[in-house]
Amino acid sequence: MRIFFLFLDGVGLGENDPDRNPFLSADFPALTSLTGGERWHKDLPRIDGERSIFVPTDACLGVAGTPQSATGQAAIMTGINVPLIIEEHYGPKPTAQIGTIIRRESVVKKLTARGINAGFLNAYPPGFFESVRSGKRLLSSNQLALQVAGVEMRGATALYSGRALSPDFTGENWRTHLGYSDTPIYEPYEAGKRLAELAAEHDFAFFDHWPTDYYGHRGSRKEIGEQLRNFDRVIQGLLDNWDDKTGLIVITSDHGNIEDLSVRGHTRNPVPTFVIGEGRHAFTDGLIDLTDFAERILAFYNS
Ligand SMILES: [Zn+2]
Repeated sequence: MRIFFLFLDGVGLGENDPDRNPFLSADFPALTSLTGGERWHKDLPRIDGERSIFVPTDACLGVAGTPQSATGQAAIMTGINVPLIIEEHYGPKPTAQIGTIIRRESVVKKLTARGINAGFLNAYPPGFFESVRSGKRLLSSNQLALQVAGVEMRGATALYSGRALSPDFTGENWRTHLGYSDTPIYEPYEAGKRLAELAAEHDFAFFDHWPTDYYGHRGSRKEIGEQLRNFDRVIQGLLDNWDDKTGLIVITSDHGNIEDLSVRGHTRNPVPTFVIGEGRHAFTDGLIDLTDFAERILAFYNS
C-alpha cells in the first residue's frame, strides 16, 4: 500500500465570488469531481465522495498573521505546530530553528528509517544544485524533510528519461524559463498519468507543485485561469491512472494565495485537502489542520 503526496503551494479555498475566486471562473471537471460536483470555495463542508474525501483544512494553526511556506510545510512534514513554537508564520525558506525541527522530526525520515521506499518526483535543473551547494539557495522545508530522509533529489537526467517531472507538471518551464530546447513536454493529462506511474514505483512518493503560489503572487487573471485548466487536466490524468486499491493520493497545501484574485499575497483561508483511495476514511478521520498529516502517514503504514 502506497501514498502519493501531491503538495500544492499557495492554494486555499476562496470566497464564493467568481470575481475574486478563479476556481469559480470556469468548469473544472476533475477538480469538481473531488468535491461532489461543487466548485471549490470556502463555504463547502467536508465532502465524502465516491472516490475521495474533501476536508477544508486550517493552515493558520492558532497563530496571527498570514501563513507562510516554511512554517506551513514544516507543520505538514513533521506534525508539529511549528508556527506556534516560533510564534510566527515564516517563509518562504526555513530558519535555522525550523530546520532543526525538520531534521529531527521529518515524517519522511521516520518512514525511510523503517525501510519504507520514498521517492521525490520533482526534477531540478543543474543551476538549482549549484546554488544549493554554494550556499546561495536554502532548501525549502519540503525539500529539507526529504533530504534528511536520504531521498534523492532528481535532476535533468531524470527529466529527460521521464523519471521526474518539472514542478509545472508539463515541463514548459524548462523551455521558457531555463533555456532548454529539447526537454520533454507533456500534455497536462499525460503529466498526471506519468505522476501516477512514477508514484507506483515507491511506497511513499512526493511531488511539489509551487507555480500555484508563484501565479498567486504575480500572475494575471488569464494566466491563473490557464494554470487551473492545466491543473484540472493533470488531476484527471492522475485519477484515471490511479488504482484506489493500491493506496492513497493525498493532496493539500501550505496556505492560501491563488484562490483570491483581490490580494497578491497569502491568505488566512482554509486549504483544500483531498484523500483519494481505499483507506481514505481512516486517514481523514479527525483531520483538522496542517499538523494532522504526519501521524496519519505513519499510521497508514502500520495498518
Ligand atoms: Zn508565496
